[in-house]
Amino acid sequence: MRLYNTLTRKIEEFTPLNDKLVTIYTCGPTVYDYAHIGNFRTFCFEDLMRRYLKFRGYQVKQVMNLTDVDDKTIRKAAEQGLGLDEYTKKYIEAFMEDCKTLNMESVEFYPRATRTIEEMIELVSTLLEKGHAYEKDGSVYFNISSLPTYGRLSGLDRREIRTGVSVDSDEYEKDDVRDFVLWKGKKEENEPAWHSPFGEGRPGWHLECSVMSMKYLGETLDIHAGGEDLIFPHHENEIAQSEAATGKTFVRHWVHCKYLIVEGKKMSKSLGNFFTLRQLLEKGYDPMAIRYTLIAAHYRKQLNFTFDSLENAAKAIGRVESFYNAVSQTANRNPRSGSVSELITKYRAQFTAAMDDDLNISGGLAALFEFIREINTKYPDSQVPEDNKTEILAFLDELNTVIACFHFGEELADEEIMKLIDERNQARKDRNFARADEIRDQLKEMGIILEDTRDATRFKRLKQVKS
Ligand code: AMP
Ligand code: ZN
Repeated sequence: MRLYNTLTRKIEEFTPLNDKLVTIYTCGPTVYDYAHIGNFRTFCFEDLMRRYLKFRGYQVKQVMNLTDVDDKTIRKAAEQGLGLDEYTKKYIEAFMEDCKTLNMESVEFYPRATRTIEEMIELVSTLLEKGHAYEKDGSVYFNISSLPTYGRLSGLDRREIRTGVSVDSDEYEKDDVRDFVLWKGKKEENEPAWHSPFGEGRPGWHLECSVMSMKYLGETLDIHAGGEDLIFPHHENEIAQSEAATGKTFVRHWVHCKYLIVEGKKMSKSLGNFFTLRQLLEKGYDPMAIRYTLIAAHYRKQLNFTFDSLENAAKAIGRVESFYNAVSQTANRNPRSGSVSELITKYRAQFTAAMDDDLNISGGLAALFEFIREINTKYPDSQVPEDNKTEILAFLDELNTVIACFHFGEELADEEIMKLIDERNQARKDRNFARADEIRDQLKEMGIILEDTRDATRFKRLKQVKS
């Protein structure tokens, strides 16, 4: 498998340090608000990478941290007059729920910064002992001139480095390269703070990720991922802290996902194109169409998220699900065909070759759709020989362990059907017959037939869809 490495700026062969085990650290959300679809582009991409590594037979040990103390969380909690924990609880729960909604796999560890303070203090102490950090006005700073490799990840020119000048803010621009803060001394009376040998204070954001990654995954990680905005200063500073402390390579493979923009523009509240996942769900979009849209473009290309792309995603999903249902209900009694197995082998290889090539998902999805097209050309209406049914469905299930956007052969619960019937009746009242027919057809595809009587609509199930 080959993967682009931001550090070397090359596509490299990926092999984990320990045989079949891959360790991954992904910078998680800052839990000061609901996560937006830009965040979820990065998170869904990371989920796709995780799922594909598992598809390739690796075992994955992944950490996604929760940044529950930083400049933003503190400011927001104070605005609402809440304690930090009280404030972030809501957004942590919402994030976990959103991840489930987007069918992301749970990762192995979700550490919280506020629960890892002791280890952070230890790392700062080590950096002070080794002469890579200094104390100033109650805070501790990393001395970037003490590390000759500083700036490698983001390609900083060493001449830009200003020594002895420090910056307190967690986020700053590339033209502001300075000694960054490891431990921020307490300034305001009611600011959250912890005791430490360097005085009361709190950790800097960069320190949090160095500590939470090494605590769970060891001093050298296979993969560290995040959005492209994190390359500088966040990841540059993580490398500095970790490598200065351990003297070892911190991360073997840096993976960064390009930004999502909306309808051609940077997402911003003032442009009215800023969407959280929840807002899109409220507008009635299917979470699987959202996931599909987020993962279907290559992670190193900017993604232009449009409402058209959501509609197209829903159609693509519908095509695959209908194919699955049609195959599972085939009535073709002909003997098993060997050429179907050959097609499965061919398209599995095509899918794998594409995904092995720096997670080329477009190629991976193309393999799936070409497979469907070829089967349908051979067997009109997907009426494959019954004895080939199991292998085809198993192949689709196998690809779906990676793509994870399809609900195959799942039966709708009675309540879900009733909800659709209510929606159809309302659509008919509104004289929106197109929508009413769409619902009837959608149900029919799942083997559910509607019967309109004078005073109510009843439904019956034709047969079991699941094979
Ligand atoms: P944050 O909650 O701001 O710490 O961000 C969580 C993750 O989302 C980080 O990996 C960011 O790099 C990523 N991210 C933020 N905005 C976008 C965007 N518009 N497109 C893609 N990823 C983003
Ligand atoms: Zn981080």
